[in-house]
Amino acid sequence: MNNRFEALSKATSHLPVAVSRPEGKVKDYFAADVFTREHMKEYIAADVLQQLFDDVDNGRPIARDMANTVAIGIRKWAMDRGATHYTHWFQPLTGGTAEKHDAFFTLGKDGSLLEEFTGEALYQQEPDASSFPSGGIRNTFEARGYSAWDPSSPVFLIGDTLCIPTIFVAYTGEALDYKTPLLRSTAALSKAAREVCWYFDKSVKQVRANLGWEQEYFLVDDALFDARPDLMLTGRTLMGHGSAKNQQLEDHYFGAIPERVLAFMQELEYESLRVGIPLRTRHNEVAPNQFEMAPQFEDVNLANDHNLLVMSIMERVARKHHFRVLLHEKPFAGVNGSGKHCNWSMQTNTGVNLLAPGKNPYQNLQFVTFLVNVLMAVKKYNGLLKATIASATNEHRLGANEAPPAIISVFLGKQITEVLDKLENATADEGIIINAKKEMKLGVANIPEILLDNTDRNRTSPFAFTGNRFEFRAVGSSANCGAAMLALNAAVAEQLTEFRRSVDVRIENGQPKEKALFDVIKQYIIESKTIRFDGNGYSDKWKQEAQKRGLDCETSVPLIFDRYLTPEAIKMFHSTGVLTEAELHSRCEVKWETYNKKLQIESRVLGDLVINHVLPAAKRYQTMLLKNVLTVKQVFPAEETDALNEQDYIIIRRIEQHSADIIRGVEQMTQARHKANRIPQEREKAIAYHDTILPLMEQIRTHVDELEMIVDDELWALPKYRELMFVR
Ligand code: ADP
Ligand code: MG
Repeated sequence: MNNRFEALSKATSHLPVAVSRPEGKVKDYFAADVFTREHMKEYIAADVLQQLFDDVDNGRPIARDMANTVAIGIRKWAMDRGATHYTHWFQPLTGGTAEKHDAFFTLGKDGSLLEEFTGEALYQQEPDASSFPSGGIRNTFEARGYSAWDPSSPVFLIGDTLCIPTIFVAYTGEALDYKTPLLRSTAALSKAAREVCWYFDKSVKQVRANLGWEQEYFLVDDALFDARPDLMLTGRTLMGHGSAKNQQLEDHYFGAIPERVLAFMQELEYESLRVGIPLRTRHNEVAPNQFEMAPQFEDVNLANDHNLLVMSIMERVARKHHFRVLLHEKPFAGVNGSGKHCNWSMQTNTGVNLLAPGKNPYQNLQFVTFLVNVLMAVKKYNGLLKATIASATNEHRLGANEAPPAIISVFLGKQITEVLDKLENATADEGIIINAKKEMKLGVANIPEILLDNTDRNRTSPFAFTGNRFEFRAVGSSANCGAAMLALNAAVAEQLTEFRRSVDVRIENGQPKEKALFDVIKQYIIESKTIRFDGNGYSDKWKQEAQKRGLDCETSVPLIFDRYLTPEAIKMFHSTGVLTEAELHSRCEVKWETYNKKLQIESRVLGDLVINHVLPAAKRYQTMLLKNVLTVKQVFPAEETDALNEQDYIIIRRIEQHSADIIRGVEQMTQARHKANRIPQEREKAIAYHDTILPLMEQIRTHVDELEMIVDDELWALPKYRELMFVR
C-alpha cells in the first residue's frame, strides 16, 4: 500500500487519548512544581530569604555564599519531590532552550554515595559552549562560556529534573543568549521610565515591562506528519496543492474545539499550570487545525521563560495524543500562518499601568507621556523592530495578505487619535490649566476612564494599541519573544531618557514643569505622525504611502538584519547597555548563518522529494496513460483512435511539460546552491539564498502542485493538504 493510505488509515483510527490530570481544583496544583516564595519559606531560613528577596526585588546580584544556603534548600525541596538530576536551562541563539542534566549524587573518596548540590553548581556552570553558535565571538577551540543563575525566574521541576533558568555568556562576558540582553533591557527601561515617572510621582522606584504572549500553532496527526519528510525536516510543507476547502467559510475560528484536540489542550494546560504558567485562554484559530493559547501577562523575563517552556511541553504532550505541533510560522501555503502576539506594557512598582488612561488629568498626562514616547521609539526604530522578528521561517508570513505586513506602523484607534489631535492643536494654556488652587487640569485631554471600545481593532496592524498595552503582532510563532522585547525595551528606554533631557532643559530655563512636559509631548505628537497608520496594512496604497513617509519597506530578510548594525541602533544598544557592538555583529552573523542553513535544508529536501516521490509518481501515471493509448489503438479502428485518445494525449503532454520544468528547476536550484555555498561571508551567502534559491523553490513547487492535481490519487504518496488539515 502506498505510504499515504497507510498513514491515513492510522490517522483516522486515532481516538482521543484520556487526559491524565487529577480531579482537584487548579489551586491544588498551580505552581506545585515551582520553588515559589511560599515553598522557599519551608526550606530556607527566614533571614537568608529576606536578603534573597530583597536582592532579587532590587535587581542586585546574589552573594556567592548565600547561593550555598539557597542551594541546600533547593536540593531538599527538589529531592522531596523525587528529583534526581538538575540542569542549567538556557536560551542559546539557535532558538529553543538547551539543557544538560547532572545527577545530584557524587561518589565520596571511599566510594560511598553523597547527595550534593553546591551553591557553585547553582550559581554557575560551564557547558561546552563550542557547539552553540556565537557568531565569531569565541572560536570553537576555546570552548569556554558559562551559564549563570537568574534568581529572578524561579527554579522548577520537569519530571525528575530540577531546571534552573540561567543566562549564557562567553568567558569574556559577551551574551550568547537572549536572556542576558533581555535582563539588561528591563534594567535600562526601569531606570529610564522611573525617572520620567518622577515628574508625576516621586515614590516610584521601579518600572517593569510586562509581556502577555498569545501562541498560535497547528496540530497535525503524527501518522500523516511521518509521511511528510518536508514537515519532519523543515517544519513546513514545501509542496502541496491547496485544499478545495480551507478557511473560506471562516468556520474554524472560535468554533467548537474537536475532542481529540481538547484532550491535548487539557493535558497541556495541566502540565503548564503545574510549572506555574498561568494559561487562561484556548481557542481555534482562523486556519483549519490552527489553535491559540494565552496566559495571563507577567514580567517579561518570566513570561518569556514560560513561553519557551510551554513550547517544549507542547511538543511532548502532543506526541502522547498522536499529534505533532507545528510551531513554524507558515507550515501551509494559502492559509493563515502562525504568530505570537506580544502584548507589552509598563507598570510601576506602585501598581500603575503606564499605558492605561488614568482617572485624573495628572495620570492622563502621564499616560500620554508614555504613549508618545513609545510612538517615537517605534518610529525611530521601525526597521530594527522588523529585524527582531525577521527569520527564514517568518519570512513566509511577512507581506502575505493574512499576516502583519513587512512595514512596521502603529495603530492607535479613533479615540486615542482624537486625544492626540486635540493636544497637538491646543496651546499650552488650553492644554494644561493650572487653577488658583494649583490643581492641574488637562483641558483638552480629559480622557474618559474606560475608553477603549474593544471593537476598535485593526487586525492588519503589526503594532497596535489595545486599550492598556501595545500588541506587537509581527513576532513569529516559533520565535523567542526575547529578541523583540529586548529591542523594544531598549528603544523605549533610550527614548524616555531623551525625553527627560528635553523636559529638564526647559525646566532649567524657567518653564513650569507642566508646560515643559506639554511642549515636548506636542512636539513628539507631530514628529511621530509618520508611524501612525489606522488603515489597511495589506493594501498596495499603504506600501506606496509608507515609502513616502520614509518607513522601512525592505522585504528581504537578509537585508532586514542590517538594521541591527545601523549607527543609530549600535548607539542605542550601547547607551542603554543592552548589547555591545561586538555582540550585535555576532548576533547578525548567527542570524545570517541560521538563515542559510534553513534554506539549504529546505532546498535539499525539496530536491530529494521531487526526484524520489513526485516525478516517479508522475511517470507511473504517464506510463499508464501511454499503455492505454496503445491499447485503444489495438482495439479500435485507426480513424477513431485519435478522438478516443485525445484527453490522454493532453494529460500525457502536461505531465511531460511539468516534469521537464521541474527537472530543469531542480538542476538550476542545485547549481545556485553550490554557487551560494562557496560564498565565504554569511551575509552575502544569505542574500544569494534569498535572491536565487528561494524563487526557484517557489517555481518548482508550482509545477509539483499542478502535477498533484493531475496524477491519479492512488499513486500520490504524500499526504495532501485536505488530509493534513482536516483529519483528526
Ligand atoms: P486578544 O483579544 O488580543 O486575544 P486576550 O484577552 O487573549 O486578548 O489577551 C491577550 C494577552 O494580553 C493575554 O496574555 C493578557 O494577559 C495580555 N494582557 C492584558 N493586559 C495586559 C497588559 N496591561 N500588559 C501586557 N499584557 C496584557
Ligand atoms: Mg491579541
